[in-house]
Formats: sequence, C-alpha cells, structure tokens
Amino acid sequence: MSEPKQGQCLCGQVKITATPAQQNFSVCHCRMCRQWGGGPLFAIPCGQSVVVEGQENVQEFDSSPWAKRGFCRHCGTHLYYRVKKSNEFNVPLGLLENMDNTNMAMQYFIDLKPSNYCFNNQTEMLTSAQIEAYFAKVMAEAKAEAAAKRQSQID
Ligand SMILES: [Zn+2]
Ligand SMILES: [Zn+2]
Repeated sequence: MSEPKQGQCLCGQVKITATPAQQNFSVCHCRMCRQWGGGPLFAIPCGQSVVVEGQENVQEFDSSPWAKRGFCRHCGTHLYYRVKKSNEFNVPLGLLENMDNTNMAMQYFIDLKPSNYCFNNQTEMLTSAQIEAYFAKVMAEAKAEAAAKRQSQID
C-alpha cells in the first residue's frame, strides 16, 4: 500500500497525510494504550511519511523513554504514536479515511488484555516477554539515554 491517506482531528485544526507502510494494522492491549483511548489501540505503521498540517495545534506527550504520543491540543483527538529515535509513526486506524482495505494482523501485549473483551480475528499475538525480547535493544538504549539525561540534570 503506497497510496497517501488523509485524516483530520475532530475539530479540524490538525490534518494528517500518511502513507501506510503496509496493509496490516496492529492492536495494542497494553495498559497505557487502553488508558489513553479507553480501549485497545488500532494503529497502522506509516514510517516517516507523516505530514502534519496545523503543527502548532499538536501537543506531544513523552509517554516512554522511546516514544511520544501526539494529540490535538483543542479537541484531544489522538494523532500518532511516534518512536523518537527512528521518527517512525504509528497512526490510529480510525483517524485515516478509506482504510477498509486493511487487515488486523497482530495483537501486542496479549497477556495484558483484560478478559472482558476479545476479537475473533485470526492474528499473530505477542506477549510482553516476546515484545521485550524483540525490542530489547531499542528499549535498553532509550532507558540508558533517559537515565544519563536525568543524571546530567542532577549534576
Ligand atoms: Zn482538533
Ligand atoms: Zn500499547
């Protein structure tokens, strides 16, 4: 899928153009995603292709040593999850228009999913331990950098 997709926040002051890197989207059941959006996060990887119009209306929250979450400061619409180091964006599926032609392919943090909902799509599923193993290097580097930064602020 190389076609650019459009989306905008509820109040219309932020517009996003993103080219999904693939046709597959993921579902994240982690506590932070559920706390952020009230349910699991459906997101599609868009690499570095994301163009934001109305950047002055975007607020970013430093949600972990390795990622930031962006939202509209006026209406609160969630705009993206961005990996700091690679500047790769994951965009909420529902933000973009004409996304029917995509597949639910992966469920992250399946061990953190509450038992009160489930999807019957056949997907790959990764537990916390599998995700940690997969992203161990990136997470460890980001944590070390954050610790070093804190240390330098204390010094
Ligand atoms: Zn808005
Ligand atoms: Zn999550």
